[in-house]
Amino acid sequence: MPLPQILPYRVTRNEFVTEHVIQLECVSAEGVERPSFVAGQFMMLHWKDELGDLIDKPHAYSIASAPQEEGFIFSIKIYGPYTTRLSQEPKLGSIVHLQGPYGLFTLQKVQNERVVLLAGGVGIAPFRSMILDELTRIPIHSFHILYSNKTKSSFPFKEELDTLSLQHPKNLKVSYTITQDGDPDWTGHRGRWTAESIKKEIGDGGETTFFVCGPPPFVVEMQDQLAKMGVEKNKVKVEKFT
Ligand SMILES: Cc1cc2nc3c(=O)[nH]c(=O)nc-3n(C[C@H](O)[C@H](O)[C@H](O)COP(=O)(O)OP(=O)(O)OC[C@H]3O[C@@H](n4cnc5c(N)ncnc54)[C@H](O)[C@@H]3O)c2cc1C
Repeated sequence: MPLPQILPYRVTRNEFVTEHVIQLECVSAEGVERPSFVAGQFMMLHWKDELGDLIDKPHAYSIASAPQEEGFIFSIKIYGPYTTRLSQEPKLGSIVHLQGPYGLFTLQKVQNERVVLLAGGVGIAPFRSMILDELTRIPIHSFHILYSNKTKSSFPFKEELDTLSLQHPKNLKVSYTITQDGDPDWTGHRGRWTAESIKKEIGDGGETTFFVCGPPPFVVEMQDQLAKMGVEKNKVKVEKFT
């Protein structure tokens, strides 16, 4: 199969939404059709300087927008030199190049009705795409997101997720945990998810498909905890943000 084309997109938003996370949004540049994708997939960002030379090797970013939305939304953690520069450039109206979609981290072959989504930080990105995609149609899954972050102010999309879970109580529940903040006002869970706390949140883990997404240490830890709960490996799909 030929590789997907590298296509130009115009930046429509590039700003911090939490202390360490930017939301990068772009739409197809004039005359270019955005490729279709399945919720959960990712794109490769080929970011070039004004001379057209690649700034660095292409980087992968999960698509946080639903296929029904225009363009693409990405949720990007500012970490090393590449993302630091990405948070300062590109400006509104400038062009970035994207190639894709790629990936099999999707709901396509999931037979269980119940789906638990474990997100570490910006690992929430593909899950936003999945739930928006389903909740704007007749949903076929019931989702429970277990969303982990360091502090209470570091949850991208929290307001939107809270609204969606109120609007769709049968199909979406969101449980939050913070792992560092000592804030006494926090009413959610505290500390990393463990086999015990996951069980407490979701009840019995049978007839459930689990998706885990985030930085590699988070993904590995969640795989261990799910194994401790007795969840079979083939019921767990993972995406590591390496
Ligand atoms: C399928 C997939 C989907 C992904 N989706 C997302 C997403 O939605 N959002 C997201 O934020 N990320 C995502 N990622 C991760 C993303 O592709 C990049 O890996 C990430 O943005 C790296 O940022 P950076 O600024 O550290 O990059 P770079 O500057 O290229 O650095 C890469 C790595 O090199 C190391 N490094 C860099 N500088 C130093 C230094 N000075 N000292 C020591 N080590 C250093 C660090 O380990 C660093 O992470 C995804 C990855 C994959 C594979």
